[in-house]
Amino acid sequence: MPVDKGLYMPVSIPYQDISFFDKIAGGSLADVGYEICKSLFAGEIADANLQQITHQAFPFETPVINLAEKDLGVLELFHGPSLAFKDVGARFMASLMSYFSGKTDKEVHILVATSGDTGGAVAMGFHNVPGVRVSILYPSGRVSDLQEKQLTTLGGNVQAFEVKGSFDDCQAIVKQAFLDPTLTDRVALSSANSINIFRLIPQSFYYVSAYGQSKHVGKPIVFSTPSGNFGNLSAGVLAQRMGLPVHHFIAATNLNHVVPDYLHTGAYQPKESVATISNAMDVGSPSNFVRLTHLYGDQFDNVSRQVKGYYFDDAATEAGMQQIYARYGYVACPHTAIGIMGAQEDKKQTNEDFYHIALATAHPSKFKPLVEQVLGVEVDVPERLAVLSAREKHSFLIDPDYESFREAFSATL
Ligand SMILES: *Cc1c(COP(=O)(O)O)cnc(C)c1O
Repeated sequence: MPVDKGLYMPVSIPYQDISFFDKIAGGSLADVGYEICKSLFAGEIADANLQQITHQAFPFETPVINLAEKDLGVLELFHGPSLAFKDVGARFMASLMSYFSGKTDKEVHILVATSGDTGGAVAMGFHNVPGVRVSILYPSGRVSDLQEKQLTTLGGNVQAFEVKGSFDDCQAIVKQAFLDPTLTDRVALSSANSINIFRLIPQSFYYVSAYGQSKHVGKPIVFSTPSGNFGNLSAGVLAQRMGLPVHHFIAATNLNHVVPDYLHTGAYQPKESVATISNAMDVGSPSNFVRLTHLYGDQFDNVSRQVKGYYFDDAATEAGMQQIYARYGYVACPHTAIGIMGAQEDKKQTNEDFYHIALATAHPSKFKPLVEQVLGVEVDVPERLAVLSAREKHSFLIDPDYESFREAFSATL
């Protein structure tokens, strides 16, 4: 982590021409990742190790499902173990760290605050990785039952702190822990939130894979990314900066729309977050906003030309989920629905002919009660998630203040 605890960026982004992408984009996600890593980590990690790291991280694919002929597709990012796109970043980080931990005997301790999906991906990604211990802080009663099972039932090197407060309280505690010498002198703390560049880089891989799966359509590609902290969208822009042909991006949000507002007015005004049914995007002050604008040279004109913003409230999201199911027979989680609606809205705003690809960020079963109620259909829970419901929950219940965490955490060291 930089000494100022700020955001890392790669020193330089290697630029590739289209033939590079045409050559690699047809491969598996692991192979695409491997080829991009070779150009990013040039020489720092041996090719054979990079191959192992990427194949260990990505034993699953990110398929593009065509919804409307040559018009609209969804990029399904939920085929990993925790059923959300955050698996991609968390698993890559885990595999990189297990590679590096083989080189030292110092244990790394990961601290992460979660509103739901990040914690599950990190817990599952790092479970049983040697040399790494994971502590997850989550707001008591504010994550779904299945999300809580992902955080609290693995055991081994993964432990959960259930905070009697909000996600913001969890995040504040984590921030303070990184600044507390009584902890940092004892253990090597590391973060796994989306500001971590090693979670961001691998998310560029699936944009490249989506390009490979869609170039036969023969139209300029537009990606619509349902966004909260804007890590996922920044990763798309990173891929574009590497040379991937993308016509423009769509920042699709819920009522937390500070970025769409910025794109319309040029003024960035972070706010308190408001609760919505697409809760993984309830962010009022997106931690990757600076990175997003930086990738466009901190030029508002550049950003606003390349990124269009749309947002939808809960009523519109539910209506959208129903419309998507009626029109395409596709069951979308609320976040994914916002991505698809962003793409549909963008089509109305232009006469140009694009292939719009909306990112499907979570499997609908992660939000089973809501999706079933809105659509009136039964949603199956994939086996890998279903097995967790029988397991017993273990968590340390703590008050929402730093001292309570420090005491409970220290006792586990
Ligand atoms: C985390 C998350 C998002 C938001 O992604 P960001 O990178 O924070 O913008 C969207 N959908 C789901 C399901 C998520 O878990």
